[in-house]
Amino acid sequence: MIRLLIVEDEPRMSEALGELLRREGYEVCVCTDGQQGMLAIVDQDFDAAILDVMLPGASGFEIAAAARQAGRSLPILMLTARDAVEDKVIGLDSGADDYLIKPFDARELLARVRAMTRRVTPANAGKRYGDIVLTMDGFDLLCLHTGQSVRLTPKEAKLLDALIETDGRTITRELLAVRAYGYQDTAEYNNVEVYLTFLRRKLKFIGSGVGIKARRGLGYQIREDAGV
Ligand code: CA
Repeated sequence: MIRLLIVEDEPRMSEALGELLRREGYEVCVCTDGQQGMLAIVDQDFDAAILDVMLPGASGFEIAAAARQAGRSLPILMLTARDAVEDKVIGLDSGADDYLIKPFDARELLARVRAMTRRVTPANAGKRYGDIVLTMDGFDLLCLHTGQSVRLTPKEAKLLDALIETDGRTITRELLAVRAYGYQDTAEYNNVEVYLTFLRRKLKFIGSGVGIKARRGLGYQIREDAGV
């Protein structure tokens, strides 16, 4: 699980951020005070941090600088006020990696967080097959060949995960459904076909050579070079 630190003093904002990111599957720690945030970023192992600039106790810049001084290389997203160009300059100097100007769209924030955490996830930390990597949180599918990525739904991710585990061996639809979803349900057997269609489309979209072949009467087989 990817661990995120959020330092934001405005209660409604920090709550909303925490909730949004937890719902996306991140483990989230929220600090509402600058000093507290500084201690957390230095002492604990986070994969990424989201820092508000204006905070009681210590500013977002000071927190970022403290993290770098302590040798922490985690990516840092800074939340700055609109038009605070000066903030960006100071922020860069203090060690921030990216900015988001308030007010921001939730989708924009999620996209930035995904991009940041993808950078800290080495290709071999996810599950790898052929030219694809299913990232640690299990929902981002990345093609190492093209650098393109796409978000998977939990159902698609579980199915792909189960297919990768077969390491290219043919698997029946029933067994695939059980391994992916953990229970036996005829409705799920039928849905497998639908999710596979989405998965194939997404593999194609990111330009991967990996494909999922249907083998008549036998089941399915994941192939490294199916698209070639
Ligand atoms: Ca603030």
